[in-house]
Amino acid sequence: MGDCFEPIARSTRENQQRHLWAIGLEPRNENATLKHGRAPGPCRCCFALSVAMTAVDKPSIAPTAAAMQTDPLPRDWDAIVIGSGIGGLVTATQLAAKGAKVLVLERYLIPGGSAGYFEREGYRFDVGASMIFGFGQQGTTNLLTRALAAVGQTIETIPDPVQIHYHLPNQLEVKVHRDYEQFLQELGDRFPHERQGIRQFYDECWTIFNCLNAMELLSLEELRYLMRVFFQNPLACLGLVKYLPQNVGAIARRYISDPELLKFIDIECYCWSVVPADLTPAINAGMVFSDRHYGGINYPKGGVGQIAQKLVDGLETHGGRIQYKARVTQIVTEGGRAVGVKLASGELLRAKRVISNATRWDTFGQLLDRDQPLDEDRWQERYQKSPSFLSVHMGVRADALPAGTDCHHILVKDWEQMEAAYGTVFVSIPTLLDPDLAPPDHHILHVFTPCWISDWLNLSPEDYQAQKEQKAQELCDRLAPIVPQLDAAIDYIEIGTPRTHRRFLGRVDGSYGPIPRRKLPGLLTMPFNRTAVKNLYCVGDSTFPGQGLNAVAFSGFACAHRVAADLGLV
Ligand SMILES: Cc1cc2nc3c(=O)[nH]c(=O)nc-3n(C[C@H](O)[C@H](O)[C@H](O)COP(=O)(O)OP(=O)(O)OC[C@H]3O[C@@H](n4cnc5c(N)ncnc54)[C@H](O)[C@@H]3O)c2cc1C
Repeated sequence: MGDCFEPIARSTRENQQRHLWAIGLEPRNENATLKHGRAPGPCRCCFALSVAMTAVDKPSIAPTAAAMQTDPLPRDWDAIVIGSGIGGLVTATQLAAKGAKVLVLERYLIPGGSAGYFEREGYRFDVGASMIFGFGQQGTTNLLTRALAAVGQTIETIPDPVQIHYHLPNQLEVKVHRDYEQFLQELGDRFPHERQGIRQFYDECWTIFNCLNAMELLSLEELRYLMRVFFQNPLACLGLVKYLPQNVGAIARRYISDPELLKFIDIECYCWSVVPADLTPAINAGMVFSDRHYGGINYPKGGVGQIAQKLVDGLETHGGRIQYKARVTQIVTEGGRAVGVKLASGELLRAKRVISNATRWDTFGQLLDRDQPLDEDRWQERYQKSPSFLSVHMGVRADALPAGTDCHHILVKDWEQMEAAYGTVFVSIPTLLDPDLAPPDHHILHVFTPCWISDWLNLSPEDYQAQKEQKAQELCDRLAPIVPQLDAAIDYIEIGTPRTHRRFLGRVDGSYGPIPRRKLPGLLTMPFNRTAVKNLYCVGDSTFPGQGLNAVAFSGFACAHRVAADLGLV
């Protein structure tokens, strides 16, 4: 399989049809091999696939006519955003709402990036994210709700009563209930000698959250804003300054000494930061460990892809524009300033400000028309690319799931392997919240585990296919605690590797994002949106405060605020 983006589709009808396969994680012909082919040796996933498929017609979320139009784009813009991930779209919608003339250029066919979706055989699969923060109705940290509202959009959401059901070594089974006291009770029952320390640790996370949740979250690079929030909320600001350089590990050890419980805090961090507590910034933990009980985890009805689609609707109703199949190949500079972008088609578009939603490695290593700034060398000395994922998307018969199964699970068999490739398994069953994403009496199972692209390079097509099937089978075998008779219940299966993530999400090595190379002072060294190149900004998970939809929405608010100030719009 080549790793380049393939041009597709001409007519709208053809486009919609091919959209159904093209937005998936692998070309259709490879999937056909997966469904009916055989890896060397037995593969129960494939045996299970002889089961007849149930196809259900469902409207797909198609790009709008405006986005697919082929008439020439105006050449001059206030701001061009490269990429329509949630970070890019929040920036674009915020700027459009402030009156800027904004263009989003997306290399793919639909918006959303890692928060996109694809459809197969009546199933609508989320590409990545499905445990969604930021949809609360109160406070200031509900950034997805706010981003949509700013452009006149809302999404119906379905509350998830349990954020995660953990299946950990030594039969440590813990559910993180939406209700804070119920969660503390359950964890305390397992570690009664640490009951007080547990409460003190999580209460301290609430302190951080309460500081964040007391202020409007905008650009920390904008002095007037900083002064305003300081005078409005001096205590909250001082609280955040105190926690900005801290990591979770040190805070946890102040209250907790049981090694197994500290391991639990590690997996609580690892499952979204992909590093253990010692390397996880306290600010991010304050947000995650508290908001899950405050705004809660809420799933968007119709699938995660709805978020990006609604943001695009809001962008367009506010005069902004998005162009799909528009791969930026170069950020053009003149006299040291970013002045525009060049597309794969050769077209040159100019803008007063250029905002990259691609990763920093892609932005400075691939797109910028000059040498990488020294600041980026320094940043790369501190941060490295996290692994990518092996993702298995399955449709399964509903009767295979035991009654009372939760939506999100994390499995670790051996603490020593938590950070290793294939060591931690993530499971998401969004149809428990929104059954309409699958044919009747079926569920979606998205199972994924971190792994490195290096394991998947230099393989012949046959070896690549065989390795996919073998690794997917191993992953399915580990799901026994959740779905005991999985093999016999599989109706549809599709496997994505780090190469798939690289190819379809346009992310270097398919990486989930930056992780610290060593213990750093919390979030202090994570860059904001401005870059060393004048008029070039970055937004998304390689900027403050990091990965996750609500986090990149934060980055989008901050970026738009900084750009709007630079354009004289605020
Ligand atoms: C498997 C998986 C599970 C996850 N689970 C969760 C979860 O449960 N909860 C959660 O909150 N987060 C989760 N995340 C993380 C979350 O999805 C990401 O942190 C977030 O979506 C990243 O958004 P972003 O705006 O930084 O960019 P991206 O989503 O990476 O989007 C960037 C966009 O830019 C486009 N692009 C890139 N280069 C170019 C170019 N040269 N020209 C034009 N367009 C370009 C890409 O096509 C893409 O659309 C998960 C991620 C993965 C991969």
